[in-house]
Amino acid sequence: MDYSVFFTNALEGLRQEGRYRVFADIERMAGAFPHARLHEGDRVREVMVWCSNDYLGMGQHEKVRSAMHQSLDLSGAGAGGTRNIAGTNHAHVLLERELADLHRKEAALLFTSGYVSNWAALSTLAAKLPGCVVLSDAGNHASMIEGIRHSRADYRIFKHNSPEDLARCLEQVEPDRPKLVAFESVYSMDGDIAPIKELCDVADRYNAMTYLDEVHAVGLYGRRGAGVAERDGVMDRLTIVQGTLGKAFGVVGGYIASTGPIVDFVRSFASGFIFTTALPPMLAAGALASVRHLKTSQSERRAQQDRVRMLRDKLDAAGIPHMHNPSHIVPVVVGDAAKCRAVSDRLLDGFDIYIQPINYPTVPRGTERLRITPSPLHSYEDIDYLVDALDAVWSQHHLARTRPIGPTM
Ligand code: PMP
Repeated sequence: MDYSVFFTNALEGLRQEGRYRVFADIERMAGAFPHARLHEGDRVREVMVWCSNDYLGMGQHEKVRSAMHQSLDLSGAGAGGTRNIAGTNHAHVLLERELADLHRKEAALLFTSGYVSNWAALSTLAAKLPGCVVLSDAGNHASMIEGIRHSRADYRIFKHNSPEDLARCLEQVEPDRPKLVAFESVYSMDGDIAPIKELCDVADRYNAMTYLDEVHAVGLYGRRGAGVAERDGVMDRLTIVQGTLGKAFGVVGGYIASTGPIVDFVRSFASGFIFTTALPPMLAAGALASVRHLKTSQSERRAQQDRVRMLRDKLDAAGIPHMHNPSHIVPVVVGDAAKCRAVSDRLLDGFDIYIQPINYPTVPRGTERLRITPSPLHSYEDIDYLVDALDAVWSQHHLARTRPIGPTM
């Protein structure tokens, strides 16, 4: 086989389908979020980022940065080993305690990313529980799907956000088999929110465990930032909660929180936890500062919700089609991969606005979109400027102005 021909052709195939990914080379500037420098060859210019998952700008927050500086000076760069062999630093222990408390669970366990936490926890639980059947929401993230597949356990996919279909699937499972229902709270691309209580009601009826990914909700919802389950008053209904430290908390890392024995079980059996170097202590220290801050401060959440509302109203007034969902994610639908790329390019070149186009396979074909995430640090003037720019680009490209759009799933 000619290896290089194979790889080149495979990439060419992606290019022809319009799916080849080109990264924007941005340089974030501490304290200047959402402004960033964009590198294009020799050229560098300042742009405004409207598609960051640093939802609240905590990655640049003074408390987080100073906690990381202090930890770096105190402990150095790396953790020094896996958690089992010299890598457990005090910052990890404190952060796990804080996360357990955040979710009102007995224990929590850190991983190097949200992806790894989903993959490791789900693959371990589903593989080790004898005869386990996993019930997985049709909209679940790749990290959950990969974990479930890797476990080789039986699984059924229930219709997105449908307690009725979950019940139908559970009805078909032998009553004495262990069952695990896996779903998310806020779905990242459509921004729709799961009926957590109703899904838990069904799971309880069939004696199934529940596993909730709150990656796009932690820090953002609930009085202490524990997520949608906190906001809805159903934290105690969940067996396992999973979250990230890399989005609203602004750093990196993932975790699960659950009962003592379940967390201890994953800690003891999950290869994705055991056989990898622990997070650098400074990252744990930064995340700890962020979690603690968002546990008591409401101002970032309020300011974000205020800006989300304002952006939606102005998009409606301008007739720019966007999905009306109940979350902080504002998907502006273009509906065609090439046009979506062209709109994004025009915003960048003509207006210094950076919004990454989201194309298939991340979203279904025909729903290609700009996924806009307003933060507390976008000003009202920034919102006006964005909507004016979208308005101009919409006209230039003769794009349809439509009524609000429902979820794509
Ligand atoms: N779950 C969901 C729903 C996600 O969208 C993502 C990342 N986009 C992850 C898990 C993975 O989290 P992380 O980025 O911390 O690896």
